[in-house]
Amino acid sequence: MNTEHDLQQSLTALDGRGYASYKQLRGSYSLGSYQLRIDKVQVDPFAPPSLMRLRLPRAEAGIPADLLDDHAGRVATADYLTRAFAAAVRSSKSDSISIGRPGQQVLQRSSVAITEEFIEARFAVELPASGRKALGRKAAQLLTHTLPEVADSALRHSSLDSSDLRHHVTLLRDQEALRAQLAKAQLVSFVADGSVLPRRSGDSDLPLSAEAVRFSSPESLRVSFDLPSGKRVTGMGVPEGVSVIVGGGYHGKSTLLRAIERGVYPHISGDGREWVITRSEAVSIRAEDGRAVTGVDISAFISGLPSATDTRSFSSTNASGSTSQAANLVEAVEAGTTALLIDEDTSATNFMIRDERMRQLIPAQHEPITPFVDRVRPLYTERGVSTVLVAGGSGAFFDVADHVIALQDYHLRDVTAEAHQIAQDHRTTTPAASSGETVFATLAPRVPLPESLRPAKKTKPARGRGLETIQYGRDTVDLAAVGQLVDPAQTEAIALALDRVAESSEGHRDISSLVDAVIQRMDAEGLDSLSSRRGHPGNLARPRRHEIHAAINRFRDLKLAKD
Ligand code: ADP
Ligand code: MG
Repeated sequence: MNTEHDLQQSLTALDGRGYASYKQLRGSYSLGSYQLRIDKVQVDPFAPPSLMRLRLPRAEAGIPADLLDDHAGRVATADYLTRAFAAAVRSSKSDSISIGRPGQQVLQRSSVAITEEFIEARFAVELPASGRKALGRKAAQLLTHTLPEVADSALRHSSLDSSDLRHHVTLLRDQEALRAQLAKAQLVSFVADGSVLPRRSGDSDLPLSAEAVRFSSPESLRVSFDLPSGKRVTGMGVPEGVSVIVGGGYHGKSTLLRAIERGVYPHISGDGREWVITRSEAVSIRAEDGRAVTGVDISAFISGLPSATDTRSFSSTNASGSTSQAANLVEAVEAGTTALLIDEDTSATNFMIRDERMRQLIPAQHEPITPFVDRVRPLYTERGVSTVLVAGGSGAFFDVADHVIALQDYHLRDVTAEAHQIAQDHRTTTPAASSGETVFATLAPRVPLPESLRPAKKTKPARGRGLETIQYGRDTVDLAAVGQLVDPAQTEAIALALDRVAESSEGHRDISSLVDAVIQRMDAEGLDSLSSRRGHPGNLARPRRHEIHAAINRFRDLKLAKD
């Protein structure tokens, strides 16, 4: 291994030379108790920044072992250290170092690795330049002074707020313990009393402060959970089955549903949603016209199209509002969801409901769409898939809802009995579900053609571009409508997962089994296993299985093997 002196010398020597001479820095250096590993050096000042790691022995870091003795503890600690590192970079005012920007969610991340032997921060550095010349002396200052200083204040327990770190770990353990109890309690989600659900603005994930009305649960749905730390939380349990959220416009319906959607991830202390806990496999579904759909069985919702298209294996390069929403729903079921979260604001009306007058004017045999209101119950009874739905504009779901809750001035009321009474008094159609036939056929496995996932012209690894886009060869995969992606580092991880899926696709494994294999790899070997590079895996955060499915499903050149 090279010494700090070697690094100083090399950097001084290349001061003022061409930028490409930085390349020779690749390698490992010992910097006091740290080990600096320079894995990838950018070729010019405008290329993506250089990738480096800084390793500190566990004994030196001094993080109490009991914080690291379970998975949740390690995830929470790594998340905490990432935030500490990012904060230390900010206060060092050196904007050329970056380690990612954790938001309100606590995610498994590649940015800090914790093993039995060491703690390692993984970050990117823009090596200093003047024009196209390397500023070696400046780089020496950055790497041998600033960097160890940042690490000293972020990776050593003695410089951290130890009770804050412990609280971060305890919180995540409690949240995950609560999540693990939801299925047994037959709940889709839990929203604690006192939660602050609204956000500061449409483009901010921070809590609305002073004027927020805190959540309080209706008595009929109130439940309590005891948590490992000894804490007890009380709030609303959203039961399995069909739950409908009603209320006037602007009374907080979408805000509640959005919080439930985001509740699949744990949130940091002070977020306001840290006790909104949703089953990890709940999926939000919306209309997404224009998306590509490949071979999806949407026949439970749409059949008998005038074009005589077979909707048991429906494909489109430009799906309509209703067909895209049907495909999103069926794909979520294929990916193993047990709960759908649907907002009228982002739904296709003709997918959701059809009113009595329209049923009279256009008889069922001339209408290809069987609306969701006729399918929501069989979805639960046949498939065990619950639905939480916002519907302020239509009472059509009263008949089929197990629970109806109303929001008024951001306060909740259980109005199930009233809604059922109204449904009885104004009975219009007999719900289609009463026919007794099963409507959801077993989904046929969809097997991708390996060559469609490995296009000949694709030579570079797939890359995430921001939160919503993946560059896959010459194609872009658009994830803008995938509402439960929260961090660009997840998008980057999904991009790498697509490459791993493509490698393992053999022409007989279906999408679910391909994604399962990637998930198992992440479980066994961590996020680093997604990267094919040795060393620095890039800035990755763990995506859910559903978002990996969502990316494959939106891949425009996907082709399936014919059975
Ligand atoms: P709806 O879907 O019922 O039309 P929204 O959920 O979009 O209503 O909320 C309307 C507005 O009210 C938003 O600006 C939101 O931030 C705000 N809001 C929602 N819930 C609360 C609350 N509990 N306290 C204060 N403001 C809230
Ligand atoms: Mg709304």
